[in-house]
Amino acid sequence: MMDLLIEEFIEDMKKHEELRKKYEKEYNHVIYVTDLVQCTRKARLLKQLPQVNVLVSLAPKVLMGKWLHDKIENYFQKLGFNIEVPVEADYHTIIDDEVVKVKLLGRIDALKVDLCDAGAFVDIYEIKTSQKLPEQPYEHHILQVKMYTTMLFSDPNLQDKIGIARPEHVNEYIMYVTPQGIRTFPVTLYNIDVSFEELIKDYIENRKIPRYEWECNYCPFREICIR
Ligand code: SF4
Repeated sequence: MMDLLIEEFIEDMKKHEELRKKYEKEYNHVIYVTDLVQCTRKARLLKQLPQVNVLVSLAPKVLMGKWLHDKIENYFQKLGFNIEVPVEADYHTIIDDEVVKVKLLGRIDALKVDLCDAGAFVDIYEIKTSQKLPEQPYEHHILQVKMYTTMLFSDPNLQDKIGIARPEHVNEYIMYVTPQGIRTFPVTLYNIDVSFEELIKDYIENRKIPRYEWECNYCPFREICIR
């Protein structure tokens, strides 16, 4: 069982890296959305030292979280959702008077389109497994979902991807699955004053170290990181 989970995880990592390499020829930066919402030094070190990423991700607690996450995705699939829907978007930004080309990549955990007389209604879910049931969704999770939605609906091939050209209404949710229970938060209730442009620049200019103070407590580089 554990071997299968490890194999799946390594396959997943390889796919991520292949996609990143494919775009690196054409873009100045290829960035996963999850890298934008964490400490920029940690994100870079994990990219430069993938062995550390493997070691962290193969901890039994993390692997069990992945197993549970996949299981819940399967339930969503039975309810008619598409799961692990890839999203990508191109951005241009100016840094030191130079145009910088950025490819952003991500994946929506579960997405469903309902068509009715009033139009197309889209439900988007981000699933998070954790030890503790939060009272409120975490800011970095909200940013992640909002970026996915923006990327999805700016995709020129939206019709081919999800079967509609434009949604009438979009509901985004973050679902926390923990030993204390399951809690789902509608993302539309939360506004965060951070622009995507700012997040991208933070990453490129390596300027949020850490993004959140609490990150250092869980960081695999905390013993060697000098702030
Ligand atoms: S220890 Fe803190 S500042 Fe250093 S890489 Fe980790 S999260 Fe970032």
